[in-house]
Amino acid sequence: MTPVLDASPSEKTAAPFPALAGADPALAPVVDKVLAGIRLTRDDGLVLFESPDVWTICRLADLVRRRLHGDVAYYNINRHVNYSNVCALSCKFCAFFRKKDEDGAYEMSVDDIVADATRAAAAGATELHIVGGLHPWLKFDYYTDMLRAIREAAPNLHIKAFTAVEIVHLARLSGRWKQRYEGILAVLRDLKDAGLGSLPGGGAEVFDDRVHDEAYKGKIRSDEWLDVHRAAHELGLNSNATMLYGHIEQRAERLHHMMLLREQQDRTLGAWAAAQGITPQAQPTSGGTDAPAIVLTGPDEAYPGARLPMPGASATGYFQTIIPLPFFPDDSELEALPAPTGLENLRTLAVARLMLDNFPHVKAFWIMQTLEMAQFMLQNGADDIDGTVVWYDITKVGGASTHQETTVWDLQRAIREAGFRPVERDTLYRPIERVDGSTWRVVADSSVTA
Ligand code: SF4
Repeated sequence: MTPVLDASPSEKTAAPFPALAGADPALAPVVDKVLAGIRLTRDDGLVLFESPDVWTICRLADLVRRRLHGDVAYYNINRHVNYSNVCALSCKFCAFFRKKDEDGAYEMSVDDIVADATRAAAAGATELHIVGGLHPWLKFDYYTDMLRAIREAAPNLHIKAFTAVEIVHLARLSGRWKQRYEGILAVLRDLKDAGLGSLPGGGAEVFDDRVHDEAYKGKIRSDEWLDVHRAAHELGLNSNATMLYGHIEQRAERLHHMMLLREQQDRTLGAWAAAQGITPQAQPTSGGTDAPAIVLTGPDEAYPGARLPMPGASATGYFQTIIPLPFFPDDSELEALPAPTGLENLRTLAVARLMLDNFPHVKAFWIMQTLEMAQFMLQNGADDIDGTVVWYDITKVGGASTHQETTVWDLQRAIREAGFRPVERDTLYRPIERVDGSTWRVVADSSVTA
């Protein structure tokens, strides 16, 4: 996690924060806490969500983001593979799924997936991002065969695959769901042995039972989603977390979602710190846990990046990134709803940066935010805009084609225009150095990867 230390000491010093004309006085206590590196409470989060002064909120999120990452903004070269759109569920917000014999239903063979992986590796990708529907008839072997075959054909591609919902589905179809947490661990162990490198953050939606029952009943609930990620972290796999907002949830429910993620990250990093003999700084706890608050975003944080578990050097995984995802109503059962506005998207991302003080990274996922909006977001809390992608079938922005792709040049230009220094990263946020188009190495590492 060296990138977190990229900010120079002067950039980490609390800068003066002059109030602007028209600044909301209700934000003053929150500003004071952020300047001092004190954890924000749920009530502070509500103030951030309700204040009309979005500009001050964005400036605060930018301050925190610069403490962690200075002028660095990350991108990667990746390829998405959606192995099947056949799904046993029918979530109301989802325009992706099909039933088995419905027009447009598909499933990729392992050979097709390997061909994609090989092409991606030859084009210089460092990551394959694999997710799909909950296919009722594919066997567990299909998933492990897929991972092994990719690993063999493209050994240097990091495989980030399967949302928590898919992992529970795999536990069910392999007969291990009765064992719940132990079953999840067993499934993840098998997948890791076959080549799984990390978990994406999808399927989290909004952690709230009312929203769950109304919009995605049948999908796993928050406790199960969190258990899957806890199990992954226990096995040394890093993961991300998403939040799909802007549909039938309230802002307070978004905040609840963030609080649950923060509590779980406290427990994970707290256990790791205790094992390392690191004493946490005195901070209020999250409220829902006895774990000490692990604040990474203060001016002199007690857990600088270099002391986070290093990939491959520790048995502990953790949440790397929060990815707020705006809801797109087109073609879904909820298409009568308006999509969230640009201002709401900016605010939600800024609040995520401020509340999730123990998440090293915040991603402005350009595919769903648009590249233009992602530029703004780099200036209000995001430090990552995801990658070149090539193919994204889960959400079609504005009904656009499923083929969504951008070039490294466009990503770099977008980052530079926003005032930041583009740094290519691998999936674990280690900076990448290109030897040539398809040959690369992790900067901190001496081995060259092709
Ligand atoms: S969101 Fe996922 S689980 Fe729900 S219907 Fe779509 S593919 Fe299936």
